[in-house]
Amino acid sequence: MFIESFKVDSPNVKYTESEIQSVYNYETTELVHENRNGTYQWIVKPKTVKYEFKTQTHVPKLGVMLVGWGGNNGSTLTAGVIANREGISWATKDKVQQANYFGSLTQASSIRVGSFNGEEIYAPFKSLLPMVNPDDIVFGGWDISNMNLADAMGRAKVLDIDLQKQLRPYMEHMVPLPGIYDPDFIAANQGSRANNVIKGTKKEQVQQLIKDIREFKEQNKVDRIVVLWTANTERYSNVVVGLNDTMENLMASVDRNETEISPSTLFAVACILENVPFINGSPQNTFVPGLIELAIQRNCLIGGDDFKSGQTKMKSVLVDFLVGAGIKPTSIVSYNHLGNNDGMNLSAPQTFRSKEISKSNVVDDMVASNGILYEPGEHPDHVVVIKYVPYVGDSKRAMDEYTSEIFMGGKSTIVLHNTCEDSLLAAPIILDLVLLAELSTRIQLKAEGEGKFHTFHPVATILSYLTKAPLVPPGTPVVNALSKQRAMLENILRACVGLAPENNMILEYK
Ligand code: NAD
Repeated sequence: MFIESFKVDSPNVKYTESEIQSVYNYETTELVHENRNGTYQWIVKPKTVKYEFKTQTHVPKLGVMLVGWGGNNGSTLTAGVIANREGISWATKDKVQQANYFGSLTQASSIRVGSFNGEEIYAPFKSLLPMVNPDDIVFGGWDISNMNLADAMGRAKVLDIDLQKQLRPYMEHMVPLPGIYDPDFIAANQGSRANNVIKGTKKEQVQQLIKDIREFKEQNKVDRIVVLWTANTERYSNVVVGLNDTMENLMASVDRNETEISPSTLFAVACILENVPFINGSPQNTFVPGLIELAIQRNCLIGGDDFKSGQTKMKSVLVDFLVGAGIKPTSIVSYNHLGNNDGMNLSAPQTFRSKEISKSNVVDDMVASNGILYEPGEHPDHVVVIKYVPYVGDSKRAMDEYTSEIFMGGKSTIVLHNTCEDSLLAAPIILDLVLLAELSTRIQLKAEGEGKFHTFHPVATILSYLTKAPLVPPGTPVVNALSKQRAMLENILRACVGLAPENNMILEYK
């Protein structure tokens, strides 16, 4: 059975006018390696830590500024949200299609809240805590191409033509602000697009971005802004001592107009200085060490990297399943071809390299979790190939071959072939990222013994379900397995309303 909403009735939860307050017992373990009777042993001690959460329930009016607004993802997301808001339907060759949010964790997935009369009861994921309604988001942003969003939607060739015709009047007047164009960081083939750029030094460019953010906020009367990079994949920046390794060095490098500071890092600097959450949806290392330090020092949310939309999402499910089943993946080979502008940009070796890096580490935690299958340091062969094939447009092909060792020296090979519009996968993920980023800035927590409530760590690991190469604070484990990432997010939100983690034990019926 499906219910639309619920309220928790518990001595541990209080709904006030402006907050949901919860007291929560976090069941965890403490490990020690100690000498007992002459031999070293691992001792696991269960422990309970009492936490308090408080979530502001007032949902702000949200502005979302996309860097690369006129690209395939930016135009598809904007179009999709307008179509949902306006209740637009359109004729396809199969049927009359209604706008929906399929593929969005917050808008189209559900959580289990309990059992009632022997039936499992589910509710929308978004009913856990008050979240911004996508209908109310004001979109804006920057692009190095000055094409309006209606034409950009046409250029992207993602949405059905009957839908495009209906959306045009809503999108024609939407024109991106000038972006920061630095041909050194993206493929040379993007040059012809760059007719809308901020001139000046890097410092002046950051100042312009800050002005843009303030004006957007003022003009649209929004309370909060989230900025998200869905612009071209850049090459990696060199991380150099004295240049971008610390906050001071990074800021001094911006002032000195150092060439190695990338456009995406400049956007992130501007956002952090304005205390605006910044999310990186592309694979490059926007978050150089100096930038992470700046975000931590200013307690400004940053999250990334690289949307986890298709092939990697499958990988973080499949390898988790295989390794969890005691099967040993030994070779993972992934081929992609795509024909959109992202594919054209990735055809340059230096931008491809960023994608290759971000796709390469996704199985590490799963491999490391099973010392029965893998020797320390052992790793499956893992190769990623991406080719640009213009004809297929946004309809990306992903072909994967997983070879594993099974019982008694046997081999199992699984081959997957996925054909799918890339931007239709990415757009709902972008929506989730901005909604969850905004929500997480309204949550505060405190463990027993901690004097004061604080926000989550500014490096937003709770967004990791949505990203290919989750950015984590220094010294924090990276979790790539998709089910663990989803459980982490869901269980933290459940804790905010005093609900226990979903443990799937269903003891009531045992
Ligand atoms: P796209 O090329 O269609 O759009 C990118 C837009 O960014 C273009 O309009 C371009 O003009 C603009 N741009 C480039 N540099 C800019 C700058 N410095 N400032 C402002 N605008 C700039 O690409 P897309 O398909 O929309 O993908 C966007 C990004 O998302 C890519 O980096 C891609 O790798 C990443 N990504 C996409 C997916 C997916 O499934 N679609 C998944 C993971 C990551």
